[in-house]
Amino acid sequence: MNNNIKINELCYATLSMENPNSFETYVSLGGYSAWKKIIANSTKPKDIIDNIINSGLRGRGGAGFSTGKKWSFINQDSDEIKYLVCNADESEPGTCKDRDILRYNPHALLEGMLIASYAIGAEVAYCYLRGEFIDDVYLSVKKALKDAYKNKLIGKNILDSNVCIEIHDLIGAGAYIVGEETAMLESIEGKKGFPRYKPPFPAVKGLFGCPTIINNVETLASVPEIINKGSEWFNKIGTDKSSGFKCFSVSGHVNKPGNYEIPLGTPFKDLLELAGGVKNNKKLKAVIPGGSSVPVVPGEKMLETNMDYESISNAGSMLGSGAVIIMDEDTNMVEVIHRIARFYYSESCGQCTPCREGTGWMYKIIDKIIKGQATIEDFESLKSIPNMISGSTICALGDAAAMPVESFIKYYEKEFLNYISKKEKKAFI
Ligand code: SF4
Repeated sequence: MNNNIKINELCYATLSMENPNSFETYVSLGGYSAWKKIIANSTKPKDIIDNIINSGLRGRGGAGFSTGKKWSFINQDSDEIKYLVCNADESEPGTCKDRDILRYNPHALLEGMLIASYAIGAEVAYCYLRGEFIDDVYLSVKKALKDAYKNKLIGKNILDSNVCIEIHDLIGAGAYIVGEETAMLESIEGKKGFPRYKPPFPAVKGLFGCPTIINNVETLASVPEIINKGSEWFNKIGTDKSSGFKCFSVSGHVNKPGNYEIPLGTPFKDLLELAGGVKNNKKLKAVIPGGSSVPVVPGEKMLETNMDYESISNAGSMLGSGAVIIMDEDTNMVEVIHRIARFYYSESCGQCTPCREGTGWMYKIIDKIIKGQATIEDFESLKSIPNMISGSTICALGDAAAMPVESFIKYYEKEFLNYISKKEKKAFI
């Protein structure tokens, strides 16, 4: 392994400190200096947006779109009220990296939210947390908000300037689909968390019908250091198109599962080594590199891949949320996809037919396969379903459910067929 890999230097910078989530700890590391500088210099919002564009920061929630460009979609000349929403509804199976930022470095998120709000001209921002975070994670954010208000960094006339930004926290009710940005807006408005048709996109018509920017926790928590150290600093880390650091949640058959923040472009094998390698010295069979909704990659291929958007895309998958699920040589791939398919079936909001029906069909056929009741015709039907869902739904959950099924069949078809041939043998006997 390359011993020079920098780990936990940005969003997880407070992790090694005694009271990682306290206001004092954050300030001792230079926290809030970017925000104070912006207020003292009355920095032009456009300069901040240009800085973030030049840094190459891309959304860390899954889509990987340029953060600065997203902010630039807000029409600064319009008199309309603008909102910022922080998506802290981290629910993608395998992902727990935002939870640790909220738990151990909540002030980095708040400072990022303040800077983003200022840059887009929002005076009100919401931090929408996943329902299951109603424990120490929520308390950590609550306490951070209280301390930041007490120190006049949030609220009316921040640091005696004429800048006013309020940040509200909200906790969801535990639905995966509310992590979809427009479903989250519906939920904040007090409605059922159903995704909206796009366009109009939230930057044009978002929360309460007003222009809104929605960013992920890790994205926003990365912003203060970019302002402090400059866009060039961030841009030099990682690869040409995938700049900066990224938090990866490594789970499954590894010796040291956990969150690791490393430069993008780090070889996968180095990340695997950081996580202690495959348990019991077994062979690596497969990896889901970006959360359960992305295509699976065979182990040999993954060992030659780097952890950045382009390399993982070249390997046939997506970096997604950065949840890296490791599977060893003994893993039953049909059982894995059975579990994943069940998740998307139960989390589909049911608004559109291909997703509502398709997720159910896929789960039920895989269930039949597992139970040894499926025929080869059932398997042929299963193969045809992902294509009917992809690209024909209101939100990305349809694709998220279809892609894993397609990829598991592509690489591990034999394992499905083994179940079916056993059934056929049984029938013959
Ligand atoms: Fe709901 Fe699925 Fe349609 Fe998304 S794709 S709106 S989750 S039914």
